Amino acid sequence: MRERIIDNFGRVHNYLRISLTDNCNLRCFYCMPEEEYAFTPHTKLMQVEEIGPLAKLFVDHGVTKIRLTGGEPLVRKDAPEIIRTLSRLPVELTMTTNGIRIDDMLPQIVDAGFSSINISLDTLQPDKFFRITRRDYFDRVRRNIDLLLEKQVQTKLNVVVMKGLNDDEILDFVELTRLYPIEVRFIEFMPFSGNRWSSNQVLTLNEILERIGSAYDIEPIPPKPNDTSKPFAIAGHMGKIAVISTMTAPFCESCNRMRLTADGKLKNCLFSKEETDLLSALRNGEDVLPLIQQSIRSKAESLGGQLTKDFKDIETDSLKNRSMITIGG
Ligand code: SAM
Ligand code: SF4
Repeated sequence: MRERIIDNFGRVHNYLRISLTDNCNLRCFYCMPEEEYAFTPHTKLMQVEEIGPLAKLFVDHGVTKIRLTGGEPLVRKDAPEIIRTLSRLPVELTMTTNGIRIDDMLPQIVDAGFSSINISLDTLQPDKFFRITRRDYFDRVRRNIDLLLEKQVQTKLNVVVMKGLNDDEILDFVELTRLYPIEVRFIEFMPFSGNRWSSNQVLTLNEILERIGSAYDIEPIPPKPNDTSKPFAIAGHMGKIAVISTMTAPFCESCNRMRLTADGKLKNCLFSKEETDLLSALRNGEDVLPLIQQSIRSKAESLGGQLTKDFKDIETDSLKNRSMITIGG
C-alpha cells in the first residue's frame, strides 16, 4: 500500500465521510442555518466522475471505510450511480440518510452491499416529527425502516436528544430494540453555525444512561477500534443501544475521520475552522494528495481546537464553522 494518511499525533486516517449535497427534503431546525439558505448549485458539487477518482485516491492511501452523507444523500438524482461507483471500491460502504427515499432506490441500495445504514429519526410521534423537520414524512420513514429490515440490511437509528423536545421518548426508542435487531444511537446535541444551540438543551451521556438504566438492565459492550459510540446490550433485547457523547466524552484520541463536503472541501474535523479545496485542485489538474496530507497534518488534537472541554463554557458566537447540513454529519 502507498503512504497512509497520518496526522501529527500519529492518528491513522482511514475513514472518509463524503457529503453528496447540501440539499435536503427535510428542514430539521437543529441542522439547517437559521436564515434562508440557498443550496449549492449542481455544477459546484462534486460530480460522479470526480467523486470516483477522489474516493479511489483516498482508498489507495489507506481508507477502508466510506460513509455517504449530506444534506440528504438520496435527494441527488445521480445517487444510484454514485453508490454503484463507490461500491466497486474495496471499502466498507455505509450511509447516513433521513430514510425518505429508501423505497425509491431499494434495489440499488440492496445491490450496493452497504455494511449498515443509519437512519435519522428523532421522534416516534408524527406531530413532533413535523415540528422538528417541517415536513410530513413520518409514515414513509417508518415504513422504509421496515423495508430495510425485511431486506436484512443492518440498520441503525440516529436520535439527536434534546432536553424538553424528545428526551421523554428515550425509553420508547429503547423499547424498539426489544423486537428489532437495530442499534439505536442517542446523540448529544452539538453546536454548529446558525443552529441555535444552547448547553441547556444537551442531555449528557450520563443523563441518558441514567434514564435508560432506571428501566432496563444495560451492559457495556467493548467498543470496536475507532468507535465514536459507546455501545450497550440490553438483557433480552434483539437490538442494542449506543450513545455518541461528543460534548461530554469526546473520542478525539482515536479519531480516524476525514470529511469531504459536497463542494469538494476537505475538513479534518467536524469542528475544524479550516478546509482545503480538493475539488478546485482536481479540476485544475493539480496533484491532490499533498493537499490531503497537509490538511490532515494540520489537524488539531481535539474538537477542531475550538470547543472547550466543558461544554457549558462554549461560546457559540466565537465558533467558526459551517452549518451541519453543509458539512455532512
Ligand atoms: N440527511 C441525513 C440524515 O439526516 O441522516 C444525513 C445528514 S445529517 C446532517 C447527519 C446526522 O447528523 C443526522 O443523524 C442528524 O440528526 C445529525 N445532526 C445534525 N445536526 C446535529 C446537531 N446539531 N447535533 C447532533 N447531531 C446532529
Ligand atoms: Fe436534512 Fe439530515 Fe439535516 Fe435533517 S438532519 S435537515 S434530514 S440533512
